[in-house]
Amino acid sequence: MKKQRRNKNWVQDYFFLIIPKPLKDELLSSWLTRTALVHKRKLSDFLTLFVKREGNCISSKDIDFKYDEKLLDALTIKSGFDRLNILKMSLRSEEGHLFTCNNCLYPPKQIRKLVDKRTHYGLMFCPKCLAEDEIPYFRKKWRYFFYNACPKHKIFLTDRCGCCHEKITLSKLKDVDEICYCSKCGRDLRLTLTYPLTSHFYYGLKAIKWFETGLEKGYFLINKQKINSLFVFESFTRLSWLLDRKEKLKLDKFPLLKNYKKLCKRSDNYDSKKALPIYKSFFLTAMVYHLFQNYPNNFINFAKENHLTHRELAHSFKDIPFWYKNLVDSLVPPHNTTGREISESEVLGAIKYLEKIGQIVNKENVARIVGCHYTINKRFSKIYHSLKFNIFR
Ligand SMILES: [Zn+2]
Ligand SMILES: [Zn+2]
Repeated sequence: MKKQRRNKNWVQDYFFLIIPKPLKDELLSSWLTRTALVHKRKLSDFLTLFVKREGNCISSKDIDFKYDEKLLDALTIKSGFDRLNILKMSLRSEEGHLFTCNNCLYPPKQIRKLVDKRTHYGLMFCPKCLAEDEIPYFRKKWRYFFYNACPKHKIFLTDRCGCCHEKITLSKLKDVDEICYCSKCGRDLRLTLTYPLTSHFYYGLKAIKWFETGLEKGYFLINKQKINSLFVFESFTRLSWLLDRKEKLKLDKFPLLKNYKKLCKRSDNYDSKKALPIYKSFFLTAMVYHLFQNYPNNFINFAKENHLTHRELAHSFKDIPFWYKNLVDSLVPPHNTTGREISESEVLGAIKYLEKIGQIVNKENVARIVGCHYTINKRFSKIYHSLKFNIFR
């Protein structure tokens, strides 16, 4: 008992004994776990001993996303590294380039949540990258929504142990000298097999590369103009939502259209949906990339062929980047006549919006949100009544 207490008060005053160098694009949790392991500790025990805080509490959270000023201060002091070096490993260092967030608790759409039972687990990896590493480590990019496959090894990333299917939890690792093992069964993650991509799918890899380069540079070249990467990533979220029209999607020149539709069909019938979201976000990423190629033709064709109105493309888009609004304004001019074309999803979106903000859903209110007259616009009336019949039945 006495020894334990001494230990607690004692080690906290010390600097880390051995400090591994952060590797290129390394995640904070990866570096911290490596540091804990060289101290022969589990991450939570290590943090409790060295960082003077409840280690269990810190390590059970998403330390790569959560901005924790005190932890950052402690790590800076204990490691002797420059604060910026440590901050660089946090996903927060991508704020302003990949996403924006006002003290948000959970990662925005651009970053995978660590626990999301509806989809796949958030921490993915490329087994071949791990196998090639002199010191195996986890990359920040493996948590980006657009990063689903490895352009270098041309395989899909995976999010679990190939043997026992346990998700990857670095904080549970103990008694190993490297972080490339399953925390449950101990299998070497470098041996995990994932699906290889045939040349037909290389278009999707090109898309990943395009987004990766844009994020690194901080801008994308679209129509010979430099566009801030944040604008493109914020539009990405909106566009992938609009593109995910399953069977109904019209995007003729997109080379993976058939594969995307096949996957959507499979998702409807398939029992275990666990791995499918990885493939789906692979296709969505490739589609958003496609919209910005052959500019502006692909974008205009998408809007036209799918009868997307200006409002659908730009309305109720939170924090709409001005660049995106301008783009939509110039490519799909808004109509302001009472007889403008209104689509079903637009009306549905307005109904959902009213429900969300707790307002009464009636024909007049919905029309106000859609931006048309509630009795004069016949198309609106028709859609509203058919939806009302389906929804409120
Ligand atoms: Zn790889
Ligand atoms: Zn396992």
